[in-house]
Amino acid sequence: MSTGPQPTPGPREEARTAPASNGAEQRTGEGVSAPRPQRPASRAGSEAAAAVQSGTVRGRAVRLKDVHAYYGDVHAIRGVDLDYQANQVTAMIGPSGCGKSTLVRCINRMHEEIPGARATGEISLDDVNIYGPGVDVVAVRRSIGMVFQKPNPFPTMSIFENVAAGLRLSGGKRGDLKERVERSLRGAGLWEEVKDRLASPGIGLSGGQQQRLCIARTIAVEPEVILMDEPCSALDPIATLKVEELIEELKTRYTIVIVTHNMQQAARVADTTAFMLSGELVEVGPTDTIFTKPSNSRTEDYVSGKFG
Ligand code: ADP
Repeated sequence: MSTGPQPTPGPREEARTAPASNGAEQRTGEGVSAPRPQRPASRAGSEAAAAVQSGTVRGRAVRLKDVHAYYGDVHAIRGVDLDYQANQVTAMIGPSGCGKSTLVRCINRMHEEIPGARATGEISLDDVNIYGPGVDVVAVRRSIGMVFQKPNPFPTMSIFENVAAGLRLSGGKRGDLKERVERSLRGAGLWEEVKDRLASPGIGLSGGQQQRLCIARTIAVEPEVILMDEPCSALDPIATLKVEELIEELKTRYTIVIVTHNMQQAARVADTTAFMLSGELVEVGPTDTIFTKPSNSRTEDYVSGKFG
C-alpha cells in the first residue's frame, strides 16, 4: 500500500467539523438542512418498490483506504479515504477531470483494465479487501455492478437477451432464466413497458428505457453495490426523473455510488455527497449539509457555482 497526501482541514474547517474516520471532513449533521424534494411514486418507482419488497437487503458497505490511481505517470487519485454506507446513495461531485470516474472504476477493479493504469491502497467490500491476493476479479465485478453514462445495450440482442446475457455469463440456472429476467426488469421499473415485446431489439427502446434495461442487466446478476457513472447525462428530463426515482427504490436493496456533474441531481437522490478536487477527496457528509453548510471553503465555492 502506498502512502499519499491526506486532505487536512484548515483552521476554519477544524472549528466546524467533527473528527472523521475517513480523512476528509465528515459533517456531524448539525446546521441547516434543506428539505429534500418529495415526489409522488412513479409507475417505474412503484414497480421497482414492489419488486424489492420481497427481496432480502443485499447492500454492503464499501471502504476505501488511502486509494491512489495512476495512468502511467499521471497521478489521478491521491490518497482517498472514504466509507460508502450500505443501502445509501452516495453522490460523487466535483469539476470535470477531478477523478470521480477514475475513483469509481477503482471500486470494481475496472481501472486496471486500461493499459498503463494501476491503483494502490485498500478497497473493502464489508471486510474483504477486493485488491487482496487471490481475489477473483470476475466475482468482484459481479458483486459491484456498473451502469455507464451512455446506455449500452448489446446492439444485436433482444430486450430479453440483454438481461439474460449477464446471467448466462455468470452461470445462472437456466430454468430460472425467464423468471430472473422478469424479476430484473421489474426491479428496474421496466417490465410493464416491455413485457409484450421482449423479443424486440434492446436498441429499439427510448434512451431512458435503454438505461433502465442496462440497470436491469446489472441487477440480474444480483450485485450488492451499483456504481453509476453519470447515468442520466444522456437522458431527457422525464427519463432522468424515472431513473432518479428508480435509484431511490434500488437503495433499499443495493448500495449505490453515483457520479454526477449535476448538483441538483445529487441533492435529489443522494443521502451522502462527496466533493473531489484534483484527485483528492475534499469533503464528505450528509447531502443537505454539503449543499447548505459545507465545512470547507473549496466545497462552498464549488456548490455555490464559483468554479466548476
Ligand atoms: P472526472 O470523472 O472527475 O471528470 P476522470 O476520472 O475522468 O475525472 O479523470 C481524472 C484525471 O485522469 C484527469 O486528469 C484525466 O485527464 C485523467 N484520465 C482519465 N482517463 C484517462 C486515461 N484513459 N488516460 C490517461 N489519463 C486519463
